[in-house]
Amino acid sequence: MYALRKLEDGPGLSLEKETPRPPIGSRDVLIQVTHAGICGTDRHIYEWDKWSQNRVKVGITTGHEFVGEVVEVGEAVTRISTGQRVSAEGHITCGYCYQCRTGNAHICETVEIIGIDRDGCFAEYIAIPEENVWPVHEKISDSVAAVFDPLGNAVHTVMTPGVSGKTVLITGVGTIGLMAVGVAKAAGASKIFAVDVDRRRLELAKHLGADLALHSIEDDWIESLQKETGGRGADVLLEMCGHPTVINQGFTALANGGQASLLGIPSGEISIDLSKQIIFKGVTIYGINGRRMFDTWYQMESLLISGKLNIDPIITHQLPMEEFQRGFELMQKGEAIKVVLNIPQTF
Ligand SMILES: [Zn+2]
Ligand SMILES: [Zn+2]
Repeated sequence: MYALRKLEDGPGLSLEKETPRPPIGSRDVLIQVTHAGICGTDRHIYEWDKWSQNRVKVGITTGHEFVGEVVEVGEAVTRISTGQRVSAEGHITCGYCYQCRTGNAHICETVEIIGIDRDGCFAEYIAIPEENVWPVHEKISDSVAAVFDPLGNAVHTVMTPGVSGKTVLITGVGTIGLMAVGVAKAAGASKIFAVDVDRRRLELAKHLGADLALHSIEDDWIESLQKETGGRGADVLLEMCGHPTVINQGFTALANGGQASLLGIPSGEISIDLSKQIIFKGVTIYGINGRRMFDTWYQMESLLISGKLNIDPIITHQLPMEEFQRGFELMQKGEAIKVVLNIPQTF
């Protein structure tokens, strides 16, 4: 089968045409992938940055966001059958550790992530445990189902503090930040502020429901936000960029007693005045990792099929898998927001 693999300890990916189909265990299903999203994480692996060098195994098939059709099931599989259109939770959890057994599988101690720790979905076929499979509702398009993984990150980030009737500040409107704008709007935020350095993304944030979209360097955005919230600051901060300065600014713009969901990953240690920014303000902070299994998935599906959430404008490009390099280049140049690859069906 075709597969996009990391074969060298250096930048780039190889499109292999003779990769063996993945074998399936008794509890696994085999999915023929039709569409797969390119993620910022894949870009790190493509560019082979420090994080990838330390984390990703050379020889792996990349990709972790997808939709496809079930073509084979293991003998112990009972609930999923061939022919179903499915996506899947890409975090393969152990099912037995303390976190898994107490409703926190998203922070399983021995999690394996597809496309990072084990073979992923930039391939014609992927094998995945039955319990990870998510049948896709008929009202949801293939391109949207292909990006459930990052959309789930956005839903998890928004739903953890809860935003109904609250003012919400989103720092960083990359793909997940933009998705979070739509989710916060659908979930009933009273006012949404988006901050970024890219004017085009800020325009899109407005289109998706942001009331105020401000440039983080050129605009005096904290002052504008204070004005719009009666001097109180935002009730909720959704941190999506990981930049130390912006993280500090986000806490400055957060109201006393506010809640902060942190999803953006800083590249190293950062410095913050804990007493001033968090302790004396009485702030609650949530670290957000992955998607809650499967609370987040049910919430995401409900928002999409209700018609309240539409993320189509975020998916700017769909390309055949052979043009994966162009997909990465479009992302590097900032021309694309979300790129979805169409996977060839050669068999
Ligand atoms: Zn992703
Ligand atoms: Zn576990």
